[in-house]
Amino acid sequence: MKVIAVNAGSSSLKFQLLEMPKETIICSGVVERIGLKDSIFTIKYGDQRQVEIIDIDTHKVAVEKLLEKLVDFGIVKSLEDIEGVGHRVVHGGEKFKDSVAITDEVINAIDEVSELAPLHNPANLTGIHAFMEALPNAFEVAVFDTAFHQTMDPVSFMYSVPYDWYTKYGVRKYGFHGTSHKYVSERASVMLGKDSKDTKIIVCHIGNGASLCAVNGGRSVDTSMGFTPLAGISMGTRSGDIDPAIIEFIANKEDKSISEVMTELNKRSGYLGLSELSSDSRDLWEAVERGDAKSILAVEKQAKMIADYIGAYYLLLGGCDAICFTAGIGENAVETRKLVIDRLGVLGIELDHDKNLTRGKETVISTDESKIKVLLVPTNEEVVIARDTVRLMK
Ligand code: AMP
Repeated sequence: MKVIAVNAGSSSLKFQLLEMPKETIICSGVVERIGLKDSIFTIKYGDQRQVEIIDIDTHKVAVEKLLEKLVDFGIVKSLEDIEGVGHRVVHGGEKFKDSVAITDEVINAIDEVSELAPLHNPANLTGIHAFMEALPNAFEVAVFDTAFHQTMDPVSFMYSVPYDWYTKYGVRKYGFHGTSHKYVSERASVMLGKDSKDTKIIVCHIGNGASLCAVNGGRSVDTSMGFTPLAGISMGTRSGDIDPAIIEFIANKEDKSISEVMTELNKRSGYLGLSELSSDSRDLWEAVERGDAKSILAVEKQAKMIADYIGAYYLLLGGCDAICFTAGIGENAVETRKLVIDRLGVLGIELDHDKNLTRGKETVISTDESKIKVLLVPTNEEVVIARDTVRLMK
């Protein structure tokens, strides 16, 4: 059975066609600059990669173009071959605790939650509408970034603010990257040779956006992102946790509105803010080699914040079987993994320096003597989306 996993952004549409239940990737690609001139359509199929520059005005046109290519290339015989479409949806609020089959009611609920994710949910809905029109017979499923974290207790998800902010406006920690945290913690249990019910895992999803998650017995019990993806550790351009009083202070000093300061915290902070150089980890590590002090500060600040969260989650979980690294930086930045683990010596964790040179492949990167295993686990959100689509279809 063929299933497409879809991630629709405001001007992009990423896709992966999978053969299920084998979980093999048939083809994948991305449409970028939707709605702008010279949109870029990239599709990878076997060892072929085709890049086409064409004007694609809407997500609907992007989907039509994609389906046309799948038939033209002979990837599918007819569109009826695609039995399921799984959509990544960023925010499911408190309503969605698991993936769901898409109905009119679900679409309305995703729309209602848009207030909490104004950049993402409307874009995700555009993708849903486009596929529902183009493939009216396929089974459509929404998979939420927030759903995995709905198992948190109030003591983890509530902020210490007036209670009625929660009851009136839904102000609480939601957490994000749930699909990735779920996948990685499940793979970690397999690598440990244990049932996920019997494991305590800390997942560090460190990409341009980054979050940690404490997973106890397969359930998220705490995570570092919060009401929005701005909270937690320092990221590519986001500050992570700061004293909220800074916002008013800077607004006054620089004669800026609150939303202007928020943009600075979202777009001009983190790696970029501290290094004054780049939001990209590769650029920073190159600068670190040259001895650039601000870049050194940027990577060390992030490593400290990651280690601080690991320490807190170790206590919350009452111990830990494995610490996992995933996403662009977690899977590839050998130096960041080392900086983090070097701070955790007191927990009896030891990195195997040769194994830590591995990139992008499931590997145990701690020594045999290490009290807690350190794992490199490449994430695969698409496979979770496809699995959930098949599960709900049944
Ligand atoms: P993501 O958001 O998961 O795609 O991750 C993007 C981040 O991963 C960027 O900061 C990249 O610089 C970083 N990244 C990707 N490949 C490497 C690499 N080989 N070494 C260091 N960082 C990398």
